Amino acid sequence: MIKYRNVVQRMKAAVDLHIHTALSPCAEDDMTPNNIVNMALLKGLDAIAITDHNSAENCRAVCKCAEGKDIIVVPGMEVETREEVHVLCYFPDVDAALRMQQFVYDALPPIENRADIFGQQIIMDENDRLKGHVKQLLVTAADIGIEEVFSLVRSLGGAAVPAHIDRESYSIISNLGIIPDELGIRTLEITPFCSTESLTARNINVTKYKFVRSSDAHALGSILERESFLDIGSLSIEGIIKALG
Ligand SMILES: [Zn+2]
Ligand SMILES: [Zn+2]
Repeated sequence: MIKYRNVVQRMKAAVDLHIHTALSPCAEDDMTPNNIVNMALLKGLDAIAITDHNSAENCRAVCKCAEGKDIIVVPGMEVETREEVHVLCYFPDVDAALRMQQFVYDALPPIENRADIFGQQIIMDENDRLKGHVKQLLVTAADIGIEEVFSLVRSLGGAAVPAHIDRESYSIISNLGIIPDELGIRTLEITPFCSTESLTARNINVTKYKFVRSSDAHALGSILERESFLDIGSLSIEGIIKALG
């Protein structure tokens, strides 16, 4: 019998790496840790990521909620940079996500959220119980440049991915016009219905990057089915970060 010792078994994981909880003011209030994890399980996903606007307050609750269940939860955040570009940041653990959160909170303008205008910014525990609200408005640009966001995330052992690059606003293409080589980007996020033609129309070299399709779900029904796949070496947070970074 031949033994293939050094062959790494790769797999295609069904993922949705861009999901907002009720912490994001624009998300539905029923985007609770349990509802998100159970919906992702119902949809048959292998891994999801929690990516609230400029905050990681609910990451620990969702990760705890997924413990012992057949799904991986990557702690993350959708940072809005000084250039108003949305960048998805993925971390190896919740502590790293919370360290990034501190940099972001320090760089947010001191504007209080108006829940009646923007919506609530709800912090929950793993049993969906209310823990409090974030007072600072989260849906605004943090005073951190895109280069610094990439280097901070990497220094915390994470991966950064420009969000919804085929959208007309808050994307690296819409706001910078190009994908700067010096950022060392390997993966780009696209929206569920993005086509190769629309990428080439935006002068994106489709052979140069890996593309990952995500829902950007703000409501439970928007979470993807098994339709977006990531080629990974191991089904773990580490395996996902390695595949993206
Ligand atoms: Zn966004
Ligand atoms: Zn988003």
